[in-house]
Amino acid sequence: MIVVMRAGASDQDLAHVIEKIEALGYRAHVMYGVERKVIGCLGDERGKAQLQSLELLRGVENVVPILSPYKLAGCQLKPEPSIVTVSSECAIGGRSFAVIAGPCAVESEEQILQTARAVAAAGANALRGGAFKPRSSTYSFQGLGEEGLRLLRLAKEETGLAIVTEIMDRYVLDQVIESADILQVGARNMQNFPLLNALGSAGKPVLLKRGMSATIEELLLSAEYILAAGNPDVILCERGIRTFETATRNTLDLNAIPALKARTHLPVLVDPSHGTGVWSYVAPMAKAALACGADGIIVEVHPRPEEVLSDGAQSLKLDKFAALMNEMKPIAEAVGRNLGRRNAECVRA
Ligand code: PEP
Ligand code: MN
Repeated sequence: MIVVMRAGASDQDLAHVIEKIEALGYRAHVMYGVERKVIGCLGDERGKAQLQSLELLRGVENVVPILSPYKLAGCQLKPEPSIVTVSSECAIGGRSFAVIAGPCAVESEEQILQTARAVAAAGANALRGGAFKPRSSTYSFQGLGEEGLRLLRLAKEETGLAIVTEIMDRYVLDQVIESADILQVGARNMQNFPLLNALGSAGKPVLLKRGMSATIEELLLSAEYILAAGNPDVILCERGIRTFETATRNTLDLNAIPALKARTHLPVLVDPSHGTGVWSYVAPMAKAALACGADGIIVEVHPRPEEVLSDGAQSLKLDKFAALMNEMKPIAEAVGRNLGRRNAECVRA
């Protein structure tokens, strides 16, 4: 249920309502709108009738049910879009179109530094790179682990780029938090509920990728775990789903962008690399993502894709990435988005 406060309700009125909500065994989640405050009552839906009686309290305008199963991720409690501010050069949401670029996995100092310098020069907002890699085969390269995190810190020190890296397991959370500005939850972990709960208190934004066979509703329900556990900074990511199609690695579901925008205030990114699996399809789909309303892209870039330890076929060379940044400029302008390292939302940060 949502308690909508009157426009002129006082702080005491608000505090009193919160007290009553908590006395009924619910958690009160206050959202501060431009004109009025609304309070989400989180807990067992069976107590709806009791919550309805809060309508009698001073300062309360009305009490209405939250219709969607994802209470905090949905638009009802928070209609205005959320902006996740990561650094002075990286904001995700609002007018900014964020570009996160880098290799699938951190492989060596030379590889990550060369990539970081090139993507920073081309205008990327953040550097991606997995230190802990979820691989289908146990015999494939699993990532450099702690050494990979050290190399990411080095790249950040030199370029100032925010770092996006994957968190696979809640037991290494403290270690990854120290090196990451955004914690990536991979497609294979979208429904790892103990991990999602742990990320509630991570104190860092979470980039939640859609599972390869997850519905849009399931993605939002997973986001809800992180939000309900206390972390408001969740960024969603469409990265392609499994279909009968074999010409591409996955089917990049760009329908998900307007469908998510209609349901949630959370920012939405697109991953055209895993979405297609083919480097030459990455730029067209990145541009399509920008045109259809995504808040940014996360894209795999490597200095020498032919030597890469994972996902070489879908990685852009450095010059191809720079070309893509240029090709996106007129589209960004046409759809009213800011591209580059110092755009409006970042400067406000
Ligand atoms: C990745 O970003 O390298 C990755 C493993 O992505 P996903 O979880 O979407 O497969
Ligand atoms: Mn990858």
